[in-house]
Amino acid sequence: MNKNVSLKFIEEYDINMVEETVQSIIDGLNFSNVIKPKMKVLLKPCLPMSESPDKATSTHPVVVRALANVLSKMGAQCIIAESPYGKFSTKNLEDVYLNTGMLEVNNLTKCELNTDLRTHTFETPKGVMSKNLTLLQIVNEVDAIINIGKVKLDNQLGYFGACANLFGLVPGDMKTQMLNRFETAKDFNNCILDIYDVLKDKIVLNVLDGIVSLEAGNTQRMLSCIGVAENIFSLDAAMVDVLGLGYKNTILRQARERGMFEFDKSYKLIHERIEKFVVLDYAVLEYNENTKLHTDTSAQKRYYKRIQCRPTIPQNKCKGCGICSKICPTGAILMKYDKNGELFAEIDYKKCILCKKCHTACPYQLVDMITPLGYKKFDKAINKYNQEKGE
Ligand code: SF4
Ligand code: SF4
Repeated sequence: MNKNVSLKFIEEYDINMVEETVQSIIDGLNFSNVIKPKMKVLLKPCLPMSESPDKATSTHPVVVRALANVLSKMGAQCIIAESPYGKFSTKNLEDVYLNTGMLEVNNLTKCELNTDLRTHTFETPKGVMSKNLTLLQIVNEVDAIINIGKVKLDNQLGYFGACANLFGLVPGDMKTQMLNRFETAKDFNNCILDIYDVLKDKIVLNVLDGIVSLEAGNTQRMLSCIGVAENIFSLDAAMVDVLGLGYKNTILRQARERGMFEFDKSYKLIHERIEKFVVLDYAVLEYNENTKLHTDTSAQKRYYKRIQCRPTIPQNKCKGCGICSKICPTGAILMKYDKNGELFAEIDYKKCILCKKCHTACPYQLVDMITPLGYKKFDKAINKYNQEKGE
């Protein structure tokens, strides 16, 4: 894959400057062979929470708007999609789109905002952390993905850039549940690489908003650059060099272990020289791949067990076809008759190993993966626990 990386100097979020820059990079990529008129293109910004762009936790709306304008000129139909942390609901999505400036992008451009709450479970036979992954349904419906990450440091991952941005495609509540399953940053990185593996054929471009970044301690730091590359690892490698972090302390280490990336042939800079962007005093976080994600994993696990998503079949909607029962590897699904003599499927949770095969197999998409406790109660339980510990 093409390992060219374009880093361009931009000092402010000025729509004309950003759009001109993005346009010139895309022209140089000969992207007209990739993006065809009427193609459905997902724009995936980093919108982890409902915060204003001034906080620099999310991709700035000007960057997303610039890309939407450039792609619209090429005839693409753009859809902005993200799933922030917290409850995966229309209200939460609308709130995040409003406060991060994406609603304004929607008003000023031809792109849509995704509010589809459906999910799709992908088989991941090569997955390290799991053999299937549930992501937003929209991922399955678009022709191409443009991944628009943010340059910042993250308490759990150390460096957060292009690769880590893909975790946003996991539906909101499920993120918390997944994170509670991981012990270390290495596990988290491997999960992100599992997601990459599922989506790699659709990701046609990666962009990093580094005009204003967040260094350790959530301090804003001007890097005055935008990075663009077709290869997600090359882009992260270039940005890691800008910040002086070292590949071994980032997701690139796991990418190398999995044969996705080579340290010594990582990228080729076009346009500008790297020296122009390097910062020598970027405040870094203490991080290595064995960094624990939780201070008390036993407590987290206890709560995780209570909220873990499990398959649920609504008896009144079940068509009784028996497909889920046949596919279940542990015989956990029994076919029973209701009082009207109609067949329905019932799950014996003592036998269920949460493989999600029934969720994927039901031809009527009736098997939902639902947490029995609910996200709000989980949040309350964790807060109460932390208070008791005096944190
Ligand atoms: S999740 Fe797997 S083990 Fe559990 S009921 Fe469905 S198919 Fe059976
Ligand atoms: S596959 Fe779906 S419709 Fe068929 S028995 Fe199972 S839950 Fe019911």
